[in-house]
Amino acid sequence: MKYGRVYNFSAGPATMPEPVLEEIRDEMMNYRGSGMCVMEMSHRSKVYQQIIDEAEQDLRDLMNIPDNYKVLFIQGGATLQFAMVPMNLMKNGVACYVETGAWSKKAIAEAKKYGDVHVVASSKDRNYSYIPNCDDLDIPENADYVYICENETIHGVTWPKLPNTKGHVLVSDQSSMFLSRPCNVSDYGLIYAGVQKNVGPAGMVIVIIREDLIREDLDPKVPIYCSYKTHADNGSMYNTPNCWAIYCCGKVFKYLKSLGGLEAMEKINIDKAKVMYDFLDSSKMFKGTVDKEFRSLMNIPFVTESAELDAKVVAATKAAGYDNLKGHKSVGGLRASVYNAMPKEGVEALVEFLKKFEAENS
Ligand SMILES: *Cc1c(COP(=O)(O)O)cnc(C)c1O
Repeated sequence: MKYGRVYNFSAGPATMPEPVLEEIRDEMMNYRGSGMCVMEMSHRSKVYQQIIDEAEQDLRDLMNIPDNYKVLFIQGGATLQFAMVPMNLMKNGVACYVETGAWSKKAIAEAKKYGDVHVVASSKDRNYSYIPNCDDLDIPENADYVYICENETIHGVTWPKLPNTKGHVLVSDQSSMFLSRPCNVSDYGLIYAGVQKNVGPAGMVIVIIREDLIREDLDPKVPIYCSYKTHADNGSMYNTPNCWAIYCCGKVFKYLKSLGGLEAMEKINIDKAKVMYDFLDSSKMFKGTVDKEFRSLMNIPFVTESAELDAKVVAATKAAGYDNLKGHKSVGGLRASVYNAMPKEGVEALVEFLKKFEAENS
């Protein structure tokens, strides 16, 4: 690998495309004749305005975002959205949540502070290894929205098709699958994604919200920063935004466009994840933990027969230049995150290594 880099299978912050990092390096000391680094620039400057405008436009192009949706760049990570969503969208104080793993559980716990939360389906019974059937959910008439986590980063499950919300607004946490495949934005009322999984550096979330869901009549105690209207009315610059993250994400958007957009990414991602899943399906030592139909293209959890052997694999892979394969502390085991920026060669090399490990240790 160039620059002594390793194959980094971290779930987030995660690997970024090398050509993007090289461009950032080249612009570090003097951004395009401005005489300064983007980190040093006023967010009110013309040169910065162009950076944020282009980032938004490139994202709109990539996802085909309709004109009646706002794109917002907000700080506080995806976690703040667990609260901002109910604060802004609970008009009747009622919402439905589908519990599919660690991140939807956190969102549910936070939403309960703001209103009446109905957990309308759950996969807890089999340790979040599948997505429950959501064709005929029991959704109260006055529910303000139906909430899902579209890709559970820790449990490695993803939604093969969206739930039937029976006409209610759909809200989706897409943090760990954002831009991994085409997305029909108009199926949703609100999409959000922390960018440090599949896009850029940590410290920012992108919110895509249908304009009619932006409210003027929020409880006056809602912090000004936590109102979507604040961000929508001020082009994501009510206060100083995460200038650096917006700049880096903008570069990734252009890079994805140059690769052929989200249709191309989906093909690449299917092809790449298959390398890992085919191995797991043929191995005697390693096993995937998710039902086939619901396997994530981005986060691939797997286990051996014991925690001791898992630990041995983590140590051996790390020593060989495959980093961050330890599963999340809450579930143990192993996990390979294979986001957009992970090259197929990285997965192939990892699989070769695991095959050899299996041969030598069984
Ligand atoms: C990482 C993650 C979050 C939390 O993101 P932060 O930016 O750390 O707040 C929320 N949801 C999902 C699906 C995630 O993967």
